[in-house]
Amino acid sequence: MSDANTEIPKSLLKKMDRRTFIKIAAAFGAAAAAGVAVSYAMSSSAKGRIVIIGGGCAGISMAARLKRMLRQPNITIIDPSTLHYYQPGFTLIASGVYDKDEVYRNQSDCIPSGTNWIKDSVVAVDPDKGRVYTAKNGFVDYDFLVLAPGLKLNWAGVEGIDPANIGAGDAYCMYTHGGAIKTWQGVQKFVEKGGKGIYTDTYTKHKCGGAPKKICLLTEDLSRKRGTRSKLDFNYYTASHELYDIPFFTPRLLEIYKDRNVKLNCNVRVKGIDTAAKKAYLERVEKIPVQTVGADGKKVSAFKERIEPFTQSYDFMHFLPPMCAPDFVKSSGLSWTEGKLARDGWAMVDKETLVHKKYPNIISLGDVAGIPTSKTSAAIRKQAPIAARNLVDIMEGKAPSQKYDGYAACPIITDYGHVLMCEFDYSKKPKITFPLSLLDMSNEQRVAWLLKVYVLKPMYFYGMLKGLA
Ligand SMILES: Cc1cc2nc3c(=O)[nH]c(=O)nc-3n(C[C@H](O)[C@H](O)[C@H](O)COP(=O)(O)OP(=O)(O)OC[C@H]3O[C@@H](n4cnc5c(N)ncnc54)[C@H](O)[C@@H]3O)c2cc1C
Repeated sequence: MSDANTEIPKSLLKKMDRRTFIKIAAAFGAAAAAGVAVSYAMSSSAKGRIVIIGGGCAGISMAARLKRMLRQPNITIIDPSTLHYYQPGFTLIASGVYDKDEVYRNQSDCIPSGTNWIKDSVVAVDPDKGRVYTAKNGFVDYDFLVLAPGLKLNWAGVEGIDPANIGAGDAYCMYTHGGAIKTWQGVQKFVEKGGKGIYTDTYTKHKCGGAPKKICLLTEDLSRKRGTRSKLDFNYYTASHELYDIPFFTPRLLEIYKDRNVKLNCNVRVKGIDTAAKKAYLERVEKIPVQTVGADGKKVSAFKERIEPFTQSYDFMHFLPPMCAPDFVKSSGLSWTEGKLARDGWAMVDKETLVHKKYPNIISLGDVAGIPTSKTSAAIRKQAPIAARNLVDIMEGKAPSQKYDGYAACPIITDYGHVLMCEFDYSKKPKITFPLSLLDMSNEQRVAWLLKVYVLKPMYFYGMLKGLA
């Protein structure tokens, strides 16, 4: 298993399929090339110290784009990780499609040349002074800040388990690289031995809402392929009141769950896991409508939560911890202070320009951004060009010119060979990318599987992280 603090020798890294990417780029090419030409032809002479917090999908994409757009870029990335992970590949490791070493690169190879990298963690931001404090390297001053540290997996939110003992008592979570490797071991054991499987998501906003569904459906398909399906019982618990909230795709997903006898339970949260006894402590949370009287004496409709705890034994469990913004975001006064996005500290940015609502020299994108769309790298692919253009506009003393429409995609793998490619925007209406729009994308498609397994990873490393896709 790779260790985030050990750089991997180049000779040991599997070669990505650059040829595949080039072929696909040619297929999708004309439009993409035109887009690149338009945005990068406008090279800017704007100046200023740019600090990027986080060198993940969002941070590196931004660095690459800003480097191309500015004639004299002065960019510093702060990130402690030695390795850069392609996290959408974790599901494919956990289901045995990818080898464990196929999804990461040395961070030093991902950071654009000429960009200063401080290998450290940010502990605080003073947005009034324009200063970022690091754990080991003192402070760094900025004129413009890109806030892209991703999100925090809040392991303490599920009692009885932490990242160090993932897999203990057959409770798994593939949301880390090590967890994905262990999940694949657990999946194979479950498929062979049989028993009761419990799959859960979480009640907070979480990255890739499709991932827990994917590992459930893939395991179910694997058991059919291996002839053991009759020995397995599949139970899916969602904290939401419905399986999926994008109406164009939901009917087919519900049909798949029904046809394949995956039992669906809504409004359920995980409180804890007793790994020794193999018991999950769950809570059914119901929202009861109540009426209160406001200060003006008028009746106000509200909801009260009714919580009903219950316990389930399991033989295999896949769970998600709750997720929130990294602690320093909230403690530095960069989070929403009211509304649905305040509790978990998501960054307070305008959902169209991605510019911070209080500090116009801060822009935020990726998982940390407090915007009402899915937290996926597919969303970042559309956010990065907008955030980069808007930041350069601000550096030039202009108003941000670009607007993000909330585009996100979630390829829900329904079996080994098919994907329900869910693409949508803020309106929750489908927003299918050409040429997929020529197909019936309300159903799972083989071509979407090919895209997911063979194309998206090279597109990530050779396109997105280079500021080209
Ligand atoms: C299991 C799984 C399956 C997924 N499947 C898909 C999928 O199919 N399709 C899809 O589009 N997306 C998918 N995603 C989601 C996607 O990977 C994320 O949305 C994306 O990686 C978010 O990018 P980011 O840059 O915001 O955060 P990250 O990529 O997580 O990067 C954050 C970076 O910030 C750094 N950092 C953190 N804290 C600090 C700090 N205090 N100081 C400095 N640096 C810091 C970290 O080291 C990291 O390098 C999946 C994710 C998972 C876990």
